[in-house]
Amino acid sequence: MVQEVRKSEEQWRAELPADRYHVLREKGTEPAFTGTLLDVHDPGLFRCAGCGAELFRSDDKFESGSGWPSFTRAVTEGVVVETEDRSHSMIRTEITCARCGGHLGHVFPDGPAPTGQRYCVNSLSLEFEPFELKA
Ligand SMILES: [Zn+2]
Repeated sequence: MVQEVRKSEEQWRAELPADRYHVLREKGTEPAFTGTLLDVHDPGLFRCAGCGAELFRSDDKFESGSGWPSFTRAVTEGVVVETEDRSHSMIRTEITCARCGGHLGHVFPDGPAPTGQRYCVNSLSLEFEPFELKA
């Protein structure tokens, strides 16, 4: 997988607010139930806060009770990269943005139908763009 957006850590640090930098580039995790996108249910797109790539749609968002925005799938295959993560004495699957490598969160196999997947994503990794309502 070739990342389209490549920047030095100095560039990322200069461009991103400190809290987004910590999550996206240092694989941080925002505290549960604090994210600004947790309760967003308006129709729209969730874009990568690092590079603007379209990652998730409101149609696929669901209430997981985990305290983080949760989705059953990404907008299309290939926009999110899944990698085994053995940090913190756990075996999890990390998800990153394919375009810029930014850390998004983790995916767990305990989601609802139709996919059975739960993409558990930090609000700080995403930016919400409401769909234009056609008049
Ligand atoms: Zn990105």
